[in-house]
Amino acid sequence: MVLPSTILYRGPLSSCNYGCGYCPFAKRKESKAELAVDRAALERFVRWVGEQRHALRVFFTPWGEALVRRWYQEAFVSLSAMEHVERVCAQTNLSWRQAWLDRCQLDRVALWCTFHPGETQLERFVERCRSLDARGVRYSVGVVATHEHYAHAVALREALADTVYVWANAYRREAGYYTREDVAKWEAIDPLFALNLKEYPSLGRPCRAGSDAITIDGDGTIRRCHFIDAPIGNAYEPDWARALVDAPCSNRSCRCHIGYVHMDELGLYDVFAGGLLERVPKLWPARDALLTEGHKARPGRLLSVIV
Ligand code: SF4
Ligand code: SF4
Repeated sequence: MVLPSTILYRGPLSSCNYGCGYCPFAKRKESKAELAVDRAALERFVRWVGEQRHALRVFFTPWGEALVRRWYQEAFVSLSAMEHVERVCAQTNLSWRQAWLDRCQLDRVALWCTFHPGETQLERFVERCRSLDARGVRYSVGVVATHEHYAHAVALREALADTVYVWANAYRREAGYYTREDVAKWEAIDPLFALNLKEYPSLGRPCRAGSDAITIDGDGTIRRCHFIDAPIGNAYEPDWARALVDAPCSNRSCRCHIGYVHMDELGLYDVFAGGLLERVPKLWPARDALLTEGHKARPGRLLSVIV
């Protein structure tokens, strides 16, 4: 039986200390009771990971910001101490104090950090990145590639060490949003921007989500990925691994990095080898080689956001 090497966990938490205008979790608060449910679910998940015997990578992809919560910090400490956990990673706004990281086994920790220019100042964010550098934590940094964010993204790129990969996520809400010149400007920051600008036809195509990578939510429900709602099993059942599916995708298309990265035909396990969860390309900082990677013929089509 093949067991998943990557588990994306998303508990019931759905709140954030930031107030980004484009996000449903902005400044959302939860009651003590709701937070207690999230904590209990996370602690159960960590115990479950501890009972597994195969090599695993755990990726927290929360609704909102998780690492401001002490129980997620403790989960990092516990998971990174487990011999079979190769990597523990989270998507985060990096707004929290970092002292707890010193209790982690840092060679197993990684972070996917997003800079939100309206919510924090560049200097503070860069300072936090430098604290990660000083600790030797692996991470990437990125922004949502709106026109308003462009100058901030340039300043961020200039302020960070060359060894830090800065990605840009395509803004998809408006048709004709980018001109070709806009795309070239964003590629000067993220040489792989073209990869994220595409929508990948996925119906009937092979994808490792469901077998090599799965998502687990707070009550243990397993899904192939975050983009296919149908549950395939429950991690807390004794025969949970029988639920894994090695089958073609049932969605029309896939356009989010944490999804399409698992599509076989894109070869992105190789592009991001060693940094798949935290989104650090293997070749970084070889910018020109990556630009070539980003432009290689791929089966996707450019989104309608291009003029
Ligand atoms: S930091 Fe992330 S989760 Fe929080 S409001 Fe902004 S986009 Fe939403
Ligand atoms: S292609 Fe995307 S939507 Fe389809 S199974 Fe893979 S990750 Fe899920």
